[in-house]
Amino acid sequence: MSAIVTQAVKGKLRPEAAAKVARFGGQTRRLWNLFTELNNARMKECGKFIFYAELSAMLPTLLKTDPKLVGLPHRCAQMTAQNFDRTLKNYIRNKAEFLRIDAKRKARSAARVAAGLPALKPHKSGIPRFKRHDDHRDGFSFVGREVRVANGRVRLPKLGWLRVRGLDLPDGAELKQLAVTQEPDGWFVSVQFEAPTKEYAEPSLPVVGIDHGLTALAAWSDTQKIAPPKFARKAEKHVRRLNRGRDRRRKGSVNRCRTVARLAKSHRLVRQQRQDFLHKLTRRMVDTFEGFAVEDLNLKGLMKTRLAKSFADASLGELLRMLRYKSEWACREWRVIGRFQRSTGVCPEPGCGWVGPRLRPGIDTWVCGECGVVHDRDHAASRVILLHRTEP
Ligand SMILES: [Zn+2]
Repeated sequence: MSAIVTQAVKGKLRPEAAAKVARFGGQTRRLWNLFTELNNARMKECGKFIFYAELSAMLPTLLKTDPKLVGLPHRCAQMTAQNFDRTLKNYIRNKAEFLRIDAKRKARSAARVAAGLPALKPHKSGIPRFKRHDDHRDGFSFVGREVRVANGRVRLPKLGWLRVRGLDLPDGAELKQLAVTQEPDGWFVSVQFEAPTKEYAEPSLPVVGIDHGLTALAAWSDTQKIAPPKFARKAEKHVRRLNRGRDRRRKGSVNRCRTVARLAKSHRLVRQQRQDFLHKLTRRMVDTFEGFAVEDLNLKGLMKTRLAKSFADASLGELLRMLRYKSEWACREWRVIGRFQRSTGVCPEPGCGWVGPRLRPGIDTWVCGECGVVHDRDHAASRVILLHRTEP
């Protein structure tokens, strides 16, 4: 038996289809900019914002009277209003954080100017801003019942059937939402749908503890270790060259556009390689084990350290996220160990539990001061995590 869960897939529109969707993209951007203008005016006037109720009420007249919005489906307009509302509310909720980052960046910029370096670009706070044609970030969306997806094609209101690559839905999928988005090198369709989960094998091994680190993306208590893949590190040279190329080229020039597109493609490739790797890894893990005990990592704290790049490249957070939802789908045990419980440098031998000194990075093995057993840093930690699992 498998549960019904929400899933998503993304595919790329063929060039001839991309030309058709660009019109809705432009119209949606115009609408967004109209909303931004109104909102800015309102803020100046009385310090208040314009929210969804007001925006959606003005849509029918707007769509009829603005000659540049003719033909834009009402649903696209409505969902743009929803997006605007969400962005605005997100900004209001996180205003303090945005202001803090703003102030920090301004100070850093001033320090740079004082040192004779060019000023930093101002931080983009989360308030809805005007979108530009040459941002290549247009997009619009529909709800599921208005669209259809069938082998290699997608049907959108007023646009008809469009050819798309890489959009495979399982049989019996119920469409929930469809978004068409622009990236510097083309147009993409992402579909959210509900479908039964995949079948998972009967687990052959008991629950494992998992330790994460830089030398091993994951190490589990039955002595397996997964080396962290370094996709971004491998693409780094190529990306750096493209970055330099972009900065050398004149803004608005065709060559700069091309370089930006190649850069986007390169970044996407890294993303896809990483996703593919993580999907295969987590699938294998869920197929094998009865459950997982993991540490509640302070990811935000880790991202601030000097090792941030390596951690981001190893995408620990994404591994945990995937492992967690797949565990849920397959009805596996999922246990999280508190952030403040030590696991590294603690002896996992039965009846010992000696807590040693903190281990510096780079120390791979250590000897227990109580029972004298030689431990592998990562495996010992994962065994400790597993032990914690049985405690209340
Ligand atoms: Zn010991």
